[in-house]
Amino acid sequence: MITENIKRILEELPEGVQLVAAAKTRTPEEILEAIDAGVKMIGQNYVQEAEVAFEAVGGRARWHFIGHLQKNKAKKAVRLFDMIETLDSQELAREIDRRAAQHGRTLPVLIEINSGREPQKFGVIPEDAEALVKQIASLAHVQVQGVMTMGPYMGDPEDARPYFVETRRVFECLGALGIPGVEMTFLSMGMTNSYRVAVEEGANLVRIGTKIFGPR
Ligand SMILES: *Cc1c(COP(=O)(O)O)cnc(C)c1O
Repeated sequence: MITENIKRILEELPEGVQLVAAAKTRTPEEILEAIDAGVKMIGQNYVQEAEVAFEAVGGRARWHFIGHLQKNKAKKAVRLFDMIETLDSQELAREIDRRAAQHGRTLPVLIEINSGREPQKFGVIPEDAEALVKQIASLAHVQVQGVMTMGPYMGDPEDARPYFVETRRVFECLGALGIPGVEMTFLSMGMTNSYRVAVEEGANLVRIGTKIFGPR
């Protein structure tokens, strides 16, 4: 099933759009099947769960952190992950920078945009993205490489479109600023029910769980 699902998704995604398999609650066996079917990037929401998966899977995939990272987990996250997609504060950036420096590496990050401006959600609101990027651009061991959004949960994927449009606008504005050390390469948007709309609006990273692994 997993293999079939991935084949179909990979065939459907246009060139230049990369798939992150969102693997929360999935077993290492399921993750390995996904990798055998052609998945190159695994998304994890929890550091502890990622540690278990990493033991079994390790360097056979690239690991993207897509959950909310607590500062006290930054040390482990820096060791496990190839990218943090959910950076949303200067404090967290500084902690990642400090831990990455200890580890002798530079960690790619995406800025999480709270495109729905929902008070209970993580991420920075679109208006605050520029200030955050300017604050962290000079950190030597954190490299901003794009933006990510969840958007409000919507039954109808069309309802998510305005949030993707807005996030893309932020992505383009940040890119146009030409801030030294900042790249706007990755635009991570879209999940199982919304990735088609997200791709139409410019996403080049999509994070898909249910459509690969089945319902959680
Ligand atoms: C779980 C999750 C996904 C994937 O959601 P599905 O609806 O299962 O495809 C994508 N992004 C994030 C941040 C997630 O937590």
